[in-house]
Order: sequence, then structure tokens, then C-alpha cells
Amino acid sequence: MYTNRIEIVEVSARDGIQNEKRAVATADKVALIERAIEAGARRLEVTSFVNPRAVPQMADAEEVCTALPQRDDVTYVGLVMNARGADRAIATGRIDQLGAVAVSTDTFAMRNQGQTRDGSVEACRDIIERAQNVGLTAQATLAASFGCPFEGEVAEDRVIAMARAIAEAGPVEIALADTIGVGNPAHVDRLVSKVREAVDPLPVRVHFHNTRGTGLANVWAAIQAGAQVVDASIGGLGGCPFAPGAAGNVATEDVAFMLERAGIQTGLDLERLIDVNHWLAEVMGKDLPAMVGKAGGFPKVEETSEDTEERTAA
Ligand code: ZN
Repeated sequence: MYTNRIEIVEVSARDGIQNEKRAVATADKVALIERAIEAGARRLEVTSFVNPRAVPQMADAEEVCTALPQRDDVTYVGLVMNARGADRAIATGRIDQLGAVAVSTDTFAMRNQGQTRDGSVEACRDIIERAQNVGLTAQATLAASFGCPFEGEVAEDRVIAMARAIAEAGPVEIALADTIGVGNPAHVDRLVSKVREAVDPLPVRVHFHNTRGTGLANVWAAIQAGAQVVDASIGGLGGCPFAPGAAGNVATEDVAFMLERAGIQTGLDLERLIDVNHWLAEVMGKDLPAMVGKAGGFPKVEETSEDTEERTAA
């Protein structure tokens, strides 16, 4: 399967910074969202409505929502784990799409959201219904689909059954998440293909962390297997407070570079993404993992030929 257009969901304002030690000011989160929109992002995960004691970095969810730019052409996603979170997100009046999460193993589901695996599927379906009841849409993500930090291998049949059960509730798509970054392209190819078949005609979204360097290869494999939407985070920031050793998301600028050079449109402006990377590095006070942010895009060759004499490099 090959497509010439992929939608990228910008997740830096939530997944990107939720695990950062440095507290990020609300104004900086909003500036990050504004800059991502200027670079072409049209669907963005902007915050999560979770217990602020568990995830202090997201304690300003309501304040972020109030300050979001008013745009009809942008979809704002708020991540929620339960009915209370859904109610909070809906009450802001600024969230367009609820993001629900089910977890593929019981141990991880317990640590991440205090539920069993089946309980997380039920919560997911409930959140989708709550969104639809008030005229919003919902997306659903299956966390730890490629491996669990506590239980190891995750049976593919289980992931497929969960995807099917959630798809029945009518989310805009089903996502497979490699929360701890253990996936490989062959596994991704297999699971995306099977889940696509199981949830057809719903699209499949993928969410990869680059913890072991397989992030971009997994994105490519997922697209070849028919995934239509990819989560990515400017600068490659990211992690999970409940997944030991989890590193950042695949970087938006790295994914955009790879896809655009391969003839697949993303709607993103690479130069602007790189500018956002440099701005974000200053805000975070450190270098960011993204590689294209450091190296820049494809070389721009000057068209003039008059300066050839001065060239010394061979
Ligand atoms: Zn993630």
C-alpha cells in the first residue's frame, strides 16, 4: 500500500513535554502550538485532562485551552482517560476531538490509568460516546501495542480484538502506539496490516517512540502497510511517566523530511519546523533529539555558476 499524502498529528504540546522535568509555562505551550500551526500542523494534541498530581506538567490544561488560537481549520485534541477527564475537556469549549487510550496489557493499564485492559477498552468506548453526544469526534489509541515494559510480548490477536471492540464505538481512527519504543518494521508491517483489515473502513494512525532508534523505520513500514496518520513531536521530545526508559516521539521534522523527499506530502513546511525546533530548544534549555533540526533539510544549491573559481572543496 502506498499513498502520496499522510496526515501528521502534532503531539509536542502533550506527549512531547509531559515527561520533561522543567516546568513549561502555559504561554510557551501556547506559543509552541501557534508555531506548529504556522508550520502547517492542522491537528494537534494540545493537552491532557488527567490528575495534576500524577502529571504535574499538564495541570494547566484549562488555561492552555482558553489561550488556543481560534481557527476553523485546526482540530484540537485533548487526551482523557475517563469520564471526569472527558467532562473537563468538553467544558473548555475549545477541544474538537477527545483522545482516548486503551492499554494492551493489564499491568501497564493498571499503572497508567488504574484499570484492567478490558476496563480501559470500556473507558475508551465510553469516552467516544461522550464526545459524540456533544457533537465532538474522538480518536482512540492502543498503548503498548508492540511490547509492554512489565509483561513483555503482547499477543497480536489481543491487540486486534481490542481494536475491533473500540472501532465499533465509532472513533475517527484507531491508533497503534509503541509507547516504549520496542517495535521493529516487520512487526509494524504485520500488525498495521491486520488491524487495518479488522477496523476497515476506519483509518489506522501510528504513534512511535524512538527509544531504540527504530522510530523512522517503523513510520515507513506503517505507511507501506496502509497507515494514513502519524503522530509526531517537534524536536522529538517525549516520554511516558509510567514507561521506564521511554524516550521521545519520532520528530516531526525528521518524519516530514523523510516523507517529503520520498514524494509523500505532509502539508508541513520543513524550514519552519526547523525554526520551531530551535525556538523550542531554547525554551527547554537543551538540545533536542531530532536530527533534521540539527542538520537542516536537503542542500539548497545556488544556481549561479560565476563563483566556481572560488570553490576549493573537492
Ligand atoms: Zn507517546
